[in-house]
Amino acid sequence: MMMNPATDSEGGVIDMSADGEQRYDAPPRIRGRVFVVRGDITQEHVDAIVNAANTTLLGGGGVDGAIHRAAGPELLAECRTIGGCRTGDAVITRGYRLPAKYVIHTVGPIWRGGNAGEAELLASCYSSSLKLAAEHGVHTLAFPSIGTGAYGYPVSKAAQIAIKAVTDCLQTDPSINEVRFVCFDERTLDAYERALSATGR
Ligand code: ADP
Repeated sequence: MMMNPATDSEGGVIDMSADGEQRYDAPPRIRGRVFVVRGDITQEHVDAIVNAANTTLLGGGGVDGAIHRAAGPELLAECRTIGGCRTGDAVITRGYRLPAKYVIHTVGPIWRGGNAGEAELLASCYSSSLKLAAEHGVHTLAFPSIGTGAYGYPVSKAAQIAIKAVTDCLQTDPSINEVRFVCFDERTLDAYERALSATGR
């Protein structure tokens, strides 16, 4: 006899059969909308890419430097007019010479051991960016691994927070069709793939 699988209130399937381990299969509204890829975010053909900026918005190293180099000097000129961004917040600019129409700049927390509100601030980077994206009619969006470079956030913890924050936001926002996590190196890719597969996808 066929048994119907257990479902949660959202229609996500709870699978307890395979190896006794409980897996949570993400609800249909999330399935097919969140992807993890390896690559250079400056090359992504999406409506908006997210930048891991610093509070000055005046450019830095890592992904920020790469985005400014690829977008051209007009990006820095627009950032100067904004006057800064607080940790956990996000601001939006045009994408200039990038394939993406917009750049959403968010500022991750500097890792101080984990007891200084880092997790909430990192989650806020993702939710603030998605809110701004939806307000600007963005349907496809690419994130780098915010906070895990110069700011020192442990990548496996950051990946879990990132995936949860994004999937939570997508539950209530039908306007975002696709979110890509663009990982620059193998270790980051592995952490995000693990975090995504823990949601059952
Ligand atoms: P933060 O200061 O928030 O830690 P970093 O730019 O130092 O930001 O690092 C964030 C992540 O972005 C790191 O995993 C780094 O390897 C990655 N990264 C660097 N350049 C790129 C790029 N061109 N595309 C995607 N990710 C990148």
